[in-house]
Amino acid sequence: MKFKSPLEIYKILPKTNCRQCDFATCMAFSAAVFKAQKRLADCAHLDKSKIGRYEENLGAQSSIERLREDSLKDLKEKISKIDLLSRAESMGAESNGQNGKITIKCLGKEFEIDAEGNLTSQCHTHVWFAIPLFNYILFGAGIDPAGEWVPFRELKDGASWNGLFEQRCEKPLKKIADDCPELFESLINIFSGTRAANPNIPSNIKADVSVILLPFPKLPILICYWRPEDGLESELHLFFDRTAERNLNIENIFALGTGLASMLEKIILKHT
Ligand code: SF4
Repeated sequence: MKFKSPLEIYKILPKTNCRQCDFATCMAFSAAVFKAQKRLADCAHLDKSKIGRYEENLGAQSSIERLREDSLKDLKEKISKIDLLSRAESMGAESNGQNGKITIKCLGKEFEIDAEGNLTSQCHTHVWFAIPLFNYILFGAGIDPAGEWVPFRELKDGASWNGLFEQRCEKPLKKIADDCPELFESLINIFSGTRAANPNIPSNIKADVSVILLPFPKLPILICYWRPEDGLESELHLFFDRTAERNLNIENIFALGTGLASMLEKIILKHT
């Protein structure tokens, strides 16, 4: 088993919030373990017989973290070599008039990127988010959305990633929506989501809840949720504009979706 999120680490902890690891809660401790800042063995009450097996998984995980950090470093270097201001306009960002910095709105929040590739925002920035953002700025074609929604698997190259996308993005998001539907809707509001107007949605994807998020200015995501009914399970699917892969490659669209799901899981854990 490989940990995909702090939530999975949290599940194996005693959940007593005893503070003996110097963290106020087991959840905060699990986030630190996920980021390789702490070891499972630092929990005073975890069954020691399990630690060896789980630490092995975390070893593999921290090398993934290192790969991500290396990739981010490489992208920052590429940003420092381009004319950032000229890319800004075509990708829906703006010059903010300060030393070549640009401002880009992502999920309703403003992010700034300077000419050296440093990313800053009032909200906490994550590697999972920075990598797709830099790829969007560097390699996006700047195509305006066509207004035609397609599922992930119908994007060019989407079919080969679709199984993993369902497992790591749509299933966790469905669980969030099932467990706390009202919270899910309010979380969407935090990220400036807009309710999708039904006339713009084809009848085959009309759902009980349809919300559009704008992770990047030219990359909208439509989240559709069907509540459970008459013994049928609920469903949740993400749809993308037909042009999505012109502005961001499939690998980074995948990273964006899975990162979003994992961020929402963390936010929910903090509030429950
Ligand atoms: S020592 Fe273990 S049980 Fe206590 S707060 Fe930390 S993680 Fe939770």
